[in-house]
Amino acid sequence: MTQQISSVEEKKQRNQVPDGGLNHDNADRMRHPEKAHKPDNEVRRKKPDWLRVKAPTSKGYAETKNLMRGLKLNTVCEEAGCPNIGECWDKKHATFMILGSVCTRACAFCNVATGLPDKLDPHEPENVAKATAELGLNHIVITSVDRDDLDDGGAEHFARTIAQIHLHSPGTTVEILTPDFKNKDDAKPLETILKSKPEVFNHNLETVPRLYPTIRPGARYFQSLRILHEVKQLDPSTFTKSGLMVGLGETKQEVMQVMDDLRSADVDFLTIGQYLQPTPKHAPVADFITPEEFKSYEKIAYGKGFLMVSSSPLTRSSHHAGDDFVKLKAAREKKLSK
Ligand code: SF4
Repeated sequence: MTQQISSVEEKKQRNQVPDGGLNHDNADRMRHPEKAHKPDNEVRRKKPDWLRVKAPTSKGYAETKNLMRGLKLNTVCEEAGCPNIGECWDKKHATFMILGSVCTRACAFCNVATGLPDKLDPHEPENVAKATAELGLNHIVITSVDRDDLDDGGAEHFARTIAQIHLHSPGTTVEILTPDFKNKDDAKPLETILKSKPEVFNHNLETVPRLYPTIRPGARYFQSLRILHEVKQLDPSTFTKSGLMVGLGETKQEVMQVMDDLRSADVDFLTIGQYLQPTPKHAPVADFITPEEFKSYEKIAYGKGFLMVSSSPLTRSSHHAGDDFVKLKAAREKKLSK
């Protein structure tokens, strides 16, 4: 979803770059075979000042990286090339990506590798729980690749991971960022996951419905909206959260319509951030949205009744998720006390 920062050496270690150096064409083809024959979209290298971030060099960053390598865990921070990785990993904030590192979907915005997915690692739930305990976090975010190949879309694996974290770190709250479980109704994936009691259930709508056929071709807008609504109906105590990327060519009216749709689904927390194009094979950036426009979205969203809104150029679903969870709980308590 964002700019690539990882070094050539790191990518070689993770088998993402062939020997011989960083050949963007080859690297993109390996990670995104379905996009290999698409024409290139020019990447807007010159970014506005508000999107510039420092290269990650701190001791905390290096320690977090070593921990992930040691336990052979995937993070969306690296896989998606998140621009906040220097800041987050310095504070030991990482978002684990479970169910393997290869996705069965091929969204036009996402830099996670696509292809034949990995075999499920039965030790992953426990390893994620051990890493969570080692990082010593009060709040952890777990996401995954899409697993359309699994009968339950990976719901049971999510449930086991949440249960293991609660077991190893009873004081840690768990936020999950899930796929849409399209065509998995018979497996009752939401009921399976909610039995493990995640504190926050996040599913990103990503963009406005008009852009789904080009940006999220494997997904359906109303399926995504429906699962957020169902989570709230199944367990009203669970906080629900969703996110949008802007700068893909959407209009302000369309964003406001999505806000209304999310409120109809009783979603508590909305995040809005700038889309950044990972490679020439991904959807181009249509606009760099200014910080003032993000502030305006924030104001409008609060006006529509969200308990929490995070809207800024570098906002990502999991950015500052722990601090935001504390504010989210306080906002609910305040609302209930009225
Ligand atoms: S914002 Fe989220 S994905 Fe990005 S580095 Fe921080 S924890 Fe990782």
